[in-house]
Amino acid sequence: MCAFISHFRGLNYQIMKFRNFKMVSYVVYGRGSFNQLDEILALQRKGDAPMIFLVDHFFEGKALPNRIPLRGMDKIIYADVTHEPKTKQVDALALALKEEFGTVSGIIGIGGGSTMDLAKAVSLMMTNPGSSADYQGWDLVQQAGVYKVGIPTLSGTGAEVSRTTVLTGPVRKLGMNSDFTTFDQIVLDPELIKYAPTNQRFYTGMDCYIHCIESLQGTYLNEFSKSYGDKALQLCRDVFLGNKQWTEEHDEKLMMASYAGGMSIAYSQVGVAHAVSYGLSYLLGTKHGIGNCIVMNHIEEYYPEGVAEFKRMVAENNIDIPQGICSGLSEEEFEKMINVSIGMKPLWENALGKDWEQIMTREKLRALYEKL
Ligand code: NAD
Ligand code: ZN
Repeated sequence: MCAFISHFRGLNYQIMKFRNFKMVSYVVYGRGSFNQLDEILALQRKGDAPMIFLVDHFFEGKALPNRIPLRGMDKIIYADVTHEPKTKQVDALALALKEEFGTVSGIIGIGGGSTMDLAKAVSLMMTNPGSSADYQGWDLVQQAGVYKVGIPTLSGTGAEVSRTTVLTGPVRKLGMNSDFTTFDQIVLDPELIKYAPTNQRFYTGMDCYIHCIESLQGTYLNEFSKSYGDKALQLCRDVFLGNKQWTEEHDEKLMMASYAGGMSIAYSQVGVAHAVSYGLSYLLGTKHGIGNCIVMNHIEEYYPEGVAEFKRMVAENNIDIPQGICSGLSEEEFEKMINVSIGMKPLWENALGKDWEQIMTREKLRALYEKL
């Protein structure tokens, strides 16, 4: 959002420029809604062009792929998400599809944040020339991609609703942020997250919790963002506090927390945990959810109440948060992480205000990385 002064008939008045953002076009929510996929896709099929199901490799050999409504030349591709998505992985997938089919009716991503991001990016690269690395940034994508659907099997990132797809490229880890990036359809079926392992569910769920803490305390906050953020935060508390047995209701709440958290971020920004965690991810390949948790454990100076509550959640859910991951790094490696982190200007500004550079100096950031 930015404000500027306009001169009109001698009067000075302030005009605010508000973000006009694209949202997901269709949402289906409900236990078992995955079974409606055939019907949903039928309306989007373009002649013989196939639907491509990009499925998290965790599901290979499991029951879920047997429920995918394959028609004609439709194809399942298992996405290797051992590492977070890379631009070259996206480019290779899109190229292979163009070579095999020319064009496709749609890309359906079924998996965690990594698979959903891959699906969004591959959809865009079916129609945009060059490499996905050319589009890392804001509003660089020029053409709508092919029809795309997101079906989360982990909840917390908010990737199902966001207008970005986070990719690691040759020079940077940055999203393809654009109005064309948002999914055309999402299928929110809480049954699909049921078997997520406890640690992974926690790390991804904490992505949502941390988004909420960072945006609700941020300087970019407005009532739109706060309303969704408050709700997401309350749902995270319901899910991760109170030492209850995990039930279907927890899956349902966590899935809606992720949705609301993603909606909150659409109009605000993340903060210190994310800015620092991006450095870890770039240098050490630390995955997003766990990286955020590693940082959150040490930033009570910025989010005292949030960090205290986070620690209670860690203890109650018996989660291990790795320690000492930066011990033994060289001077040069610390510099690299600091450069990546300091480069996340909007995150710092959201967290610490316009004068953030006076508060978060390179020395201070270095000391924080040493603690991780
Ligand atoms: P993930 O997609 O990286 O998956 C983590 C692990 O869980 C993988 O090994 C995967 O195979 C496995 N997995 C997925 N579903 C499972 C299930 N139901 N049961 C068991 N295992 C399962 O994890 P994530 O935390 O959902 O996503 C992290 C990614 O999301 C990062 O790449 C991050 O950059 C991205 N992200 C994107 C946005 C966005 O707005 N686009 C926002 C936040 C994070
Ligand atoms: Zn995040």
